[in-house]
Amino acid sequence: MSTLKVYIVAVGDELLSGRVLDYNTHWIAKRLSGVGFNIVGASIVPDDKEEIVEAVRRALSKADLTIITGGLGPTPGDITLEALAEALNRNLSLNDDALEMVKDRYRELYEVGHIKTLEMTPEREKMARIPEGGTPIFNAVGIAPGVMVEHQGKVVLALPGVPSEMMYLLEKALPSLERMSGPVFVSVEDTVDVGDESVIARALREVMAEFPEVSIKSYPSGFGGKVKMRIIASMKAEDREGAGKHLREAIRKLKEKLV
Ligand code: ATP
Ligand code: MG
Repeated sequence: MSTLKVYIVAVGDELLSGRVLDYNTHWIAKRLSGVGFNIVGASIVPDDKEEIVEAVRRALSKADLTIITGGLGPTPGDITLEALAEALNRNLSLNDDALEMVKDRYRELYEVGHIKTLEMTPEREKMARIPEGGTPIFNAVGIAPGVMVEHQGKVVLALPGVPSEMMYLLEKALPSLERMSGPVFVSVEDTVDVGDESVIARALREVMAEFPEVSIKSYPSGFGGKVKMRIIASMKAEDREGAGKHLREAIRKLKEKLV
């Protein structure tokens, strides 16, 4: 089984001032190392959007899985999801499932008398604003849902800062994280200008014979001498990096035969 690379980003001014010990990084590192993941780095960053964006981008460049903790709550200082959306170049938008999760939790707290109103204030609604395409994870310990986002073959998991909530949500997400370290589909896309349209079928046949584990789909557009072809090469593999190289090599060979 390939080893999944993990990078942890702990967000919080109080961690940097020394007021609170960064328990989350320690616990995540220990829990995930224990199931065979490789923790390749960790950062502690302040509650500052630019700093979080930078840390997430760095984490994405180093690891398959980025785990961020802290800053998912209702207060204006909680800006992790906003920063995550920016780091992934996505919009932050109200997610219906996340909104239901937040409402469910407030309903429960209301029923046991912990809160006075069920009103969905902008602060409460804020916890359901997640990067577009992300999946919320129900938080039965606190209120703010965890958020999982797949991005260009990588995964980012944002968890609340409160350790008991972080531990609960990480445990819940663990089965799908463990599946990540099994074989996955890796694909590489490219576009090529084709000189002679009549050679496409043959070139594809030859490259597929040379790379039997690679599946190549081609989408030609244009006419006569000016054909542009979009190529998507994909394969199932445990080693993403190795597979990426292999796929780029298959595409390079195909391009050679097409020009
Ligand atoms: P909340 O909904 O409570 O605001 P949040 O996801 O926004 O949660 P924070 O506001 O960053 O998280 O932190 C909530 C609490 O958890 C604070 O008491 C904070 O000190 C603590 N906390 C945050 N990060 C860590 C950490 N890495 N290790 C230990 N405690 C932490
Ligand atoms: Mg908070």
